[in-house]
Amino acid sequence: MSDGNPPVQGLLISPIRNGTVIDHITAGEALNVLKILGITGSTTEALSVATNVASRRMGKKDIVKIENRELRKEEVDRIALIAPLARINIIRDYRVVDKKGVEIPKILRGVVRCPNPGCITNTSEPIESTFEVLPKGLHCLYCDWLIKDDIASYII
Ligand SMILES: [Zn+2]
Repeated sequence: MSDGNPPVQGLLISPIRNGTVIDHITAGEALNVLKILGITGSTTEALSVATNVASRRMGKKDIVKIENRELRKEEVDRIALIAPLARINIIRDYRVVDKKGVEIPKILRGVVRCPNPGCITNTSEPIESTFEVLPKGLHCLYCDWLIKDDIASYII
């Protein structure tokens, strides 16, 4: 997992000058995080991904490092859904200038697609999907559908 550089500030991957390090991602979810950030196979962004890194707190975790990019709130809200323990580190001039956790909002508007094809949010009506976040899953406020598993695949 190491690229030969010594760990810097607890990170296994080499330091960046400006950008964002998303640490403590649920193991196996790094690629879903990239999808949320709109980073696909043809990206031009400078990017490092480490998966299944040993973590004292989590057993295993993933890390994503993106140069010259800071995340928008909508992106952080989506990441929270699949990686609730994630830590976002903002790097400027090689220094961590901001470090924060993620928080799942109580209501998700336009974040998740309702799996129910008959739901009004999936028709031609211009209605934004709206889910409330419950301990048992995501609850569609229009059709009562409950998303319990595989939330990543419904993220818009
Ligand atoms: Zn619905």
